[in-house]
Amino acid sequence: MITTRGYAAISEESPLKPYEFQRRDVGPKDVLIEIDFCGVCHSDIHSARNEWGGAIYPVVPGHEIVGHITKIGAHVTRFKIGDLAGVGCMVDSCRTCASCKQNLEQFCDHGATFTYNSIEKNMPTPTYGGYSKQIVVDENFTLKIPANLALANVAPLLCAGITTYSPLRHWNVKKADRVGVVGLGGLGHMAVKFAVAMGAEVTMLSTSASKEKDAKKLGAHKFANTSDDQSFRTFSNYFDLIVNTVSAQHDYNQYLNLLNLNGTMVLLGAPPKPTEVYAFSFIGRRRSLAGSLIGGIKETQEMLDYCGEKNITSDIELISMHQVNEAYARIMNSDVRYRFVIDMQKF
Ligand code: NAP
Ligand code: ZN
Ligand code: ZN
Repeated sequence: MITTRGYAAISEESPLKPYEFQRRDVGPKDVLIEIDFCGVCHSDIHSARNEWGGAIYPVVPGHEIVGHITKIGAHVTRFKIGDLAGVGCMVDSCRTCASCKQNLEQFCDHGATFTYNSIEKNMPTPTYGGYSKQIVVDENFTLKIPANLALANVAPLLCAGITTYSPLRHWNVKKADRVGVVGLGGLGHMAVKFAVAMGAEVTMLSTSASKEKDAKKLGAHKFANTSDDQSFRTFSNYFDLIVNTVSAQHDYNQYLNLLNLNGTMVLLGAPPKPTEVYAFSFIGRRRSLAGSLIGGIKETQEMLDYCGEKNITSDIELISMHQVNEAYARIMNSDVRYRFVIDMQKF
């Protein structure tokens, strides 16, 4: 076993604290990654606080991991020592079910093994995430990082990036489509960048009027302040696709009414509590409500390569490991510009 250290939530109420734990030894198909940077996703907060249930304490969060390889197993072919490497939300899956065969491991029929808060396949040990110095991962769940991008700014692509890229591709966003992005946080700012890169006309729908300038800087063509009811009239029946990244309970009907004929709202945000939807929000214009979960490994690599070509990365605020609890508090106040990334080199 490999002893490593990180930060963990010990219970629902506890702040994150230093924690020492064991990783499995490097197996024949594994790589050992020395973690350089790890992004802070709102899912880390939901999980550390057990808002979705099923937490396996201690929880070491973190699934936006970038670093470099310091050891490889005997049968590893895709990586060598010294290579840059990334790990996102998944570290394993059954690899044989219909979903896995379609490169959709996130929807594995037997349940994907997530980077933290899961149980490793064939082992009784829980998985621990990237708020730590090292991680051991199967090479097939390890991503290659384009060398031309700033490494700290790449980390959030491993979750916020793929989670927004995948639905934009799935719903075939193209030139001049009208795309609305709800919530300007980690996911939201990546959704704006990708939708703009794909040629869409992008509108940022935000509760924070103070984010208008930033939204435009990120490339959004329009801004709607959703704290003002007038915005819901201005953009009524307007969008082809709405990407909803809101982490807290809110009224979906208001946003569904902004969809044009055959429009879809995709839920990416995962509020722990249910929300009521009305038939009339859908039937008048044949609208749909959908959801999307991260993206498969193949598509994650495609997204990283696309970012390398188009020079797309995340806008970040670099923090030290011990500042993570403060960062959580700021995220809960929607005060994130636009992703916190932990500098693990200094931990
Ligand atoms: P984040 O950085 O905290 O951004 C969420 C944004 O939503 C906030 O900045 C805020 O933007 C807006 N918001 C917050 N509370 C709101 C409320 N009560 N009403 C309306 N808007 C509100 O979070 P994130 O890391 O982007 O994650 C967002 C959600 O996606 C979380 O629930 C996370 O668990 C989930 N997630 C899902 C997947 C997936 O695969 N589906 C992957 C990653 C994360 P404004 O200030 O602009 O209003
Ligand atoms: Zn995430
Ligand atoms: Zn499977």
